[in-house]
Amino acid sequence: MLRMHKQVVWLTAALMLGSCAARRPGAPLRPGFNLFSPEQDIQLGRDAAVEVRKQVEVVENTELQGYVSELGSRLSRTAEAGPYPYTFTLVNDPTLNAFALPGGPVFLHSGILAAVDNEAQLAGVLAHEISHVALRHGTNQASKANIAQLPAVLAGAAVGQESMAAQLAQLGIGVGFNSLLLKYSRDAERDADSLGTRLMSQARYNPIEMARFFEKLEGEGGSRAPDFLSSHPSPGNRVRNVEAEIQTLAATSYGDGSGRFARMKSLVVQLPPPRRKR
Ligand code: ZN
Repeated sequence: MLRMHKQVVWLTAALMLGSCAARRPGAPLRPGFNLFSPEQDIQLGRDAAVEVRKQVEVVENTELQGYVSELGSRLSRTAEAGPYPYTFTLVNDPTLNAFALPGGPVFLHSGILAAVDNEAQLAGVLAHEISHVALRHGTNQASKANIAQLPAVLAGAAVGQESMAAQLAQLGIGVGFNSLLLKYSRDAERDADSLGTRLMSQARYNPIEMARFFEKLEGEGGSRAPDFLSSHPSPGNRVRNVEAEIQTLAATSYGDGSGRFARMKSLVVQLPPPRRKR
């Protein structure tokens, strides 16, 4: 009995070591364990985006929205972003935050656009969020939560007329803010930085600017530490991780961006204060 117990302990330890082993920079990044199908990611994200849009103030400026969408599309057209129907929405909120829902909807607070020094830094934030979608971190998190009824709901076995999102909400997987779908592990954050680095390079943005933006935010730290940083690994580790990933990329010349950045910065400072608070 004791011996058997020891074997179990060793096996468990070996499995844990295996799953915790740090990813080598440049190694492939793939989605982890997931009970959802990619189509269910898309469906859930669509439902969730409807809810989020009720809670935030979407920027009513077609030029700004068009700019963010074009930048996002340039990054999400890359092969490693996967086949998801990405959308990009600028939210009138001065805080430094951005988030992505499963299957493609990405939301960017205007505070990020006001804070970045150049278009590549903005691309870095979007590339990080696209990577959460491509690596399916939201539904991976929900799948790992060990919710007994989840497989039945996903198999469509649960009866009733309600949407999948409504059924998931009853299981505690809400689709709004502070949802399980947006609470990623540190490893997930690191992987989103790594894949984001690769997406930036493929879209011909210099990925070192992603690291420079982390450093800039850290410099502004203290009590002003933004949301975007609080749930993420320490900025120093993020910079080292991005730099290590860059070392594995084929030499590329980076483009100059769209040439519209200065104009967009001037538009974003003219936005009215947000009307609603969530
Ligand atoms: Zn993240």
